[in-house]
Amino acid sequence: MVSANLNQLFATFINALHILHNNAVLDAYGHLSVRNPANPSTFFMSRNLAPALVSSPSDIVEYHVADASPVEPDAPNGFIERYIHSEIYKRFSDISTVVHSHSPAVIPYSISGVPLKASIHMAGFLGDKVPVFDISEYYRGNDTQDLLVSDVRLGAALAAQFSAESSEARNLPDYSVTLMRSHGFTACAASIEAVVVQAIYTQLNAQVQSEALAIQHAYLGAKASSEDELSYLTPQQARDSYATISGTAQRPWDLWVREVEVSPLYVNTLDP
Ligand SMILES: [Zn+2]
Repeated sequence: MVSANLNQLFATFINALHILHNNAVLDAYGHLSVRNPANPSTFFMSRNLAPALVSSPSDIVEYHVADASPVEPDAPNGFIERYIHSEIYKRFSDISTVVHSHSPAVIPYSISGVPLKASIHMAGFLGDKVPVFDISEYYRGNDTQDLLVSDVRLGAALAAQFSAESSEARNLPDYSVTLMRSHGFTACAASIEAVVVQAIYTQLNAQVQSEALAIQHAYLGAKASSEDELSYLTPQQARDSYATISGTAQRPWDLWVREVEVSPLYVNTLDP
């Protein structure tokens, strides 16, 4: 039997999966996890199931942070890439939730050499840099090169990208979002609501930036020079926008919950 507190966490967790799908951040792939508030050395993820179809606590599996192995030996099959989550929890003790997405709006910024930059005030959490993790740098001789983060070593390499080179911080990452070359992105935060906002607005930021680049190209074409960079947020504007907006997360959250509640696709047996 799960406790009342855990039931509440799972209700939010299932809503978040549905919201991420409803906003096209997750499709049949991608996943969300949350650290166990009663035991920081474990975390919860759904079993190997499309996010939109997760509906009850029986779809949720508890894993060890140490090696992403299931706490219950007879747990249903999980995601291959759960090491993304376990290694971020291992590296940053104050991180309690992680989302991994294959958003096609974001992926171009992982392969084009054009950096994803904070372009809208709703995406101030992107700060002054969005790192790109290139898994090829970490492959060894006989590794399968399918771009998936499928073991502890590759997970640790990805988690390290969330720290600035000179960083000594060990509790929180320096970057809230990291792109993954030809694959997607991963975001982490201290609450489920916050990571959902980050994931949705990372995708929206990418869409706005791409449209602005396309407009600029259409108007300036070959005449565009490096002087014609878009007007991105300055580091202070990103910081200040993030501080202001992060206090308003409940408003979009309430709307997004209502949207998935009234859609017959999504079933949450824990929703009151
Ligand atoms: Zn993936």
